[in-house]
Amino acid sequence: MLSNFDLLRQTKTGVELLALLKMIVNGFSTEDIRFNKRVPYSLLDGPCNRCWIYPRKSGHMYCETCLQISHEKKALNEYVRQKAVIWGALNQIPDLFSEINWKKKFSKYQMGIYIHNNNSFLMTIPKNYILNFLKQLTLRYGDELGGLLQIFPTSGLKNMSMGESICRAVHYEHTYPMDKFRIRFYSHPLQLNKPHLRDRKGMLTFEISEFIGLLELTKIFRVLLTPQQQIDLYEIITQCEDTKEEGFFWGRFNGVITQNAKDILHEWDIRHWPKEKFELIYELRDYVAFSRSD
Ligand SMILES: [Zn+2]
Repeated sequence: MLSNFDLLRQTKTGVELLALLKMIVNGFSTEDIRFNKRVPYSLLDGPCNRCWIYPRKSGHMYCETCLQISHEKKALNEYVRQKAVIWGALNQIPDLFSEINWKKKFSKYQMGIYIHNNNSFLMTIPKNYILNFLKQLTLRYGDELGGLLQIFPTSGLKNMSMGESICRAVHYEHTYPMDKFRIRFYSHPLQLNKPHLRDRKGMLTFEISEFIGLLELTKIFRVLLTPQQQIDLYEIITQCEDTKEEGFFWGRFNGVITQNAKDILHEWDIRHWPKEKFELIYELRDYVAFSRSD
């Protein structure tokens, strides 16, 4: 019998993952499924067309579980791109989780959870809720909490299914000791294949305070410049061939942005940031809410 964890690792796409987590927060467990003893599969009566393990439900191509997943996922397609996945391996499961009404959280934000054991959990979370979530954890637990949260996008690529992303994250969970609270941020599912390449550039692993700082900075950046100005700035910093050309476009750019933007970008010394930090801020733009008030 496949466990809930097995099913999660079998998901092909992000929307299947959302569907299954919705079922799990609503109390689904594979242990509740009982199959009748059956005759061996034949050409005309084969196993389920999705999992290829369990018998098909009478009159359907899928088994009971896969049928439910395919039914649930229909309503979740539109939400999946705004969600990120977190595989957490911490020195404790935050008791905050037991205070949350996950059914409600799922129906409102498609925020689902699967608690694997006393240390590990899998969560889907709106990307722009991550900052708030991390702040809540640090405010409540301070230095008590140690371990690693790996944040990665939902996937459904031919060469990287959702389940495979999860398996890889699970594999890396013990990369660091639990002495500190660390974050690993993957902006693309394929980065889970070769995380050392991103790590070498300083774009993968952060202490929690550092990562929260980057998200805060990105939040200001999003408000400071219009989307077109953000594109223009990216081109100036990454595509100019020499400092003379860059100086010319930088001067012109400063002529069109607001005084406030000019002051803050100058204070940050953004023009001299390492390219990797600059790219990281651009990647993180999807992960912060656009808000002028908070
Ligand atoms: Zn099936």
